[in-house]
Amino acid sequence: MPSIGPAEPSPDCPLCPRLHGFIAEWRRKEPHWFNAPVPTWADAAGDDKVELLIVGLAPGLRGANRTGRPFTGDYAGDLLYSTLKRFGFARGEFKARPDDSLELTGTAVTNAVRCVPPENKPVGAEINTCRRFLVPTMARFANLRAIVTLGLVSHQSVVRALGGRVAAHPFGHGAQAELGGLRVFSSYHCSRYNTNTGRLTEEMFVDVFGEVRAFLGAD
Ligand code: SF4
Repeated sequence: MPSIGPAEPSPDCPLCPRLHGFIAEWRRKEPHWFNAPVPTWADAAGDDKVELLIVGLAPGLRGANRTGRPFTGDYAGDLLYSTLKRFGFARGEFKARPDDSLELTGTAVTNAVRCVPPENKPVGAEINTCRRFLVPTMARFANLRAIVTLGLVSHQSVVRALGGRVAAHPFGHGAQAELGGLRVFSSYHCSRYNTNTGRLTEEMFVDVFGEVRAFLGAD
């Protein structure tokens, strides 16, 4: 089996020049922001407790790129973390800041692309390059059983990371696939754009996590 690299990029990862330059620009503009690849956030009780991994697209400029915690500081986290709490995948109070009392339970949250991209749009080469961290992130959790992918980019990168063909496992909200011994659940991304346009309703999002909870069993 080929060895795999680290699950976390260096804080100044230079592998995607465009994103590296974009972050450098924001370090100058907002020196107190996080402005670095955003690390995976996981259950503090230990990696062996993690059965569920949620994979988003990339840090939001004023969200995770500002605060340093996935889905923290912009709208997408409101729906994600309220839903995780509802199904026992998180507990505490989400106040959209890394020092709130929210904790993950049996769950980890990461992004397919760790650096904030301009306009929230990573290009294909960046998605492919950052998969070198997604693969070991999935391997990091020995008892992982399920992954929720948020949006098309996340879905396709997870399928590829698990050695699958995207044509054989197309993205669809509510779709499920078995890959690499894991159950992959797909959802539209919980972005403000998707909820404002009605592409994703709260009920649709909750339904996906209800399926995940049923698959994993009661918490
Ligand atoms: S997106 Fe990933 S691979 Fe690219 S520079 Fe950031 S951490 Fe490195």
